[in-house]
Amino acid sequence: MKALLKTKKGINGVELLEIEEPQVKSHELKVKIHATGICGTDMHIIHDEYSCNYPVVMGHEYSGTVMEVGNKVTDYQVGDRVVSLTAAVKCEDCVYCRSGLYMLCEERLSIGSGVNGAFAECMVIPEKIAFKIPNNVTLDEAVLTEPLACMVRCVIERGTVKAGDYVLVSGPGTIGLLTMQVAKANGGNVIVIGTSQDKERLKLASELGAFATIVIDEEDVHEKISKLTSNLGVDVAFECAGVGPSAYNCLKLLKKTGLYVQVGLYGKKVEFDMDLALTKEINITNGFASEPTSWERALRLLEMKQVNVAPLISTKLPLDDWKKAIEMVDNKDAFKVLFVPNGEIDA
Ligand SMILES: [Zn+2]
Ligand SMILES: [Zn+2]
Repeated sequence: MKALLKTKKGINGVELLEIEEPQVKSHELKVKIHATGICGTDMHIIHDEYSCNYPVVMGHEYSGTVMEVGNKVTDYQVGDRVVSLTAAVKCEDCVYCRSGLYMLCEERLSIGSGVNGAFAECMVIPEKIAFKIPNNVTLDEAVLTEPLACMVRCVIERGTVKAGDYVLVSGPGTIGLLTMQVAKANGGNVIVIGTSQDKERLKLASELGAFATIVIDEEDVHEKISKLTSNLGVDVAFECAGVGPSAYNCLKLLKKTGLYVQVGLYGKKVEFDMDLALTKEINITNGFASEPTSWERALRLLEMKQVNVAPLISTKLPLDDWKKAIEMVDNKDAFKVLFVPNGEIDA
């Protein structure tokens, strides 16, 4: 089968190869991949900013259909539509695993970085990490369950948004617009900020229910936020861009005693104005990946139509077009780009 792998460091280390189809073991499911999203983490892997086990098939945001089950599997059948947690391998025994925090396990190997992922025609996963997709959610929409689950963790399980809160989302990428929608589902009035390069994304933010949007290199963001929040600043700020100036804006625009939530990954060390945080008594938290509870909630948000992910999908490409896909994501020419390894264009 065809698969897109990271085989070594450097851009030459991204290769589309013909590899053997994986064999299913007793407690595993073999999943025919419908589509896989290209995520910020994949881009960090491609650009050598995130560690992985070479050679590895990338891709962890996917949906698919069960095509074969192991001989001890009882809860799944051929034809079931599934998504899954990314933590495919973990010890199941450490203090973190025992509380469901698999992403913090020292022995964790994740789909698409530690073990083979979904930029391929099919993939094998342990049945334990799978979730069935609700009937009224399309396979295309379900691809976004993984990033949505991560945002559920950031907004609800690690952070808190209360009804009536002024909420700032800095960075209107996929992550930002999912964060915005989860915060809104919790009753927040969400202000989304971005640069003039992000205008299309900010427009989409408004369409998806942002309370206000601000183009930071064209408008006075401090003045505008002051006006919107009775001179106080926002109650909660989510840094979703993963760049230093965005973190500074979040700190600056928060009200004193506000909550700062780090969502984006920087891919390098950055400066953070800890004195500003301290003198405003800012609470700081963050979220890394997701736990099973985040997935259950994410799937419910999709099923109940409290979050709308379909407009975030802009492009679907076969694996053969991987160079074009990476370029589009790098240049921000597209919103969410999906690979369709089996050529299934419609969900
Ligand atoms: Zn991801
Ligand atoms: Zn563990």
